[in-house]
Amino acid sequence: MTELSNELILDTLKTVIDPESGKDIVSLGLVSGIVIKGANVGFALDIGSGDPKAKEPLRQAAEDAVKAIKGVMSASVLLTAEREAGSQQPEGGHAEHSHEGHSHAPQSAPNQSPGGRQAPPPPPKIELPTVKAIIAVASGKGGVGKSTVAVNLALALKKLGKSVGLLDADIYGPSQPRMLGAGGQRPQADDERINPVEAYGIKSMSMGYLIEEDAPMIWRGPMVAGALSQLFSDVNWGDLDILVVDMPPGTGDAQLTLAQRVPVAGAVIVSTPQDIALIDARKGIEMFKKVEIPILGIVENMSVFHCPKCGESTHIFGAGGAKATAKKLNTEFLGEIPLHLSIRETSDAGKPIVATDPDSVEAKAFIDIAEKVIAGLKS
Ligand code: ADP
Repeated sequence: MTELSNELILDTLKTVIDPESGKDIVSLGLVSGIVIKGANVGFALDIGSGDPKAKEPLRQAAEDAVKAIKGVMSASVLLTAEREAGSQQPEGGHAEHSHEGHSHAPQSAPNQSPGGRQAPPPPPKIELPTVKAIIAVASGKGGVGKSTVAVNLALALKKLGKSVGLLDADIYGPSQPRMLGAGGQRPQADDERINPVEAYGIKSMSMGYLIEEDAPMIWRGPMVAGALSQLFSDVNWGDLDILVVDMPPGTGDAQLTLAQRVPVAGAVIVSTPQDIALIDARKGIEMFKKVEIPILGIVENMSVFHCPKCGESTHIFGAGGAKATAKKLNTEFLGEIPLHLSIRETSDAGKPIVATDPDSVEAKAFIDIAEKVIAGLKS
């Protein structure tokens, strides 16, 4: 089998001609950030200040050319564009460029708003007919333990007898492969689709399986819609009771678009007890309300600290904030997860606590939350 290399990819892309200039996209310097992971290839195509829609055929041609290389299973090409002055910054400090992802969905004609101005078309929905319920795990900001909660909640749902998938929608910083101890695994293709990675009895898919760990910079920008939609629709999820989506942190446009495109049955909002995080949590709740997605409830993470030496319990960040916020916002309080070294260690070592120490107090907290989530989905 031909060994895949940057040279081979570049040689192939030299056959793709930009119709505007008549030159090939490599000579024009449009190709960057080639990442080869197993049989999966990703790279960025710079369109400068060009219109992403007009450049879609070129993106498609580049993708087709790479896909045609023997040994290539999938190709993901992102259009990257210079940000226009005054446009909105993405959350989380991923600025510099705006990157337009591609979508397999048809581009519909722009809508005419009552004022005569053109409103953007509603984003096309992603359908997953074999998945009974999709739940989003979200947080208003990063670092509150959203991914830790997502992975342990998924495992707790599995423990309660559900068939579960976990989709890591955090393109900027995928952490699920590491948290599931599956970082070294490569998804295999079956026909045209990619099979999810199996870990601890759940199916998982993440951009982290497809790109190098230090490569996420090429995904920077507010719109990675194409890559994200592929994680939903180009993956063999099979029959699932619940697909848990670990949402990207924040409540910006990208999150809103994702929430609109995916038929989410309910959202779980993760917050730490600090006031500021709760303000962010409120923003998360508002975002889902805007797109009429039911809120299953709030999880307070890093809640109480049980000192392993003296046995005392301390509410380092204050007590009861999430519970009070939940009440105020007429939302369910799903439970609190203690701040505990064992959670950090197991989560960071790829041995999530629900799977590796299911009888621990910490694992039980996740299982309680999973029970409430199941009840919430039924109601
Ligand atoms: P996010 O997805 O919100 O950015 P992570 O899930 O990546 O956050 O968690 C950030 C860090 O905090 C990780 O190192 C994780 O192990 C740790 N962590 C998360 N929840 C807890 C907890 N309840 N107790 C101790 N450490 C935690």
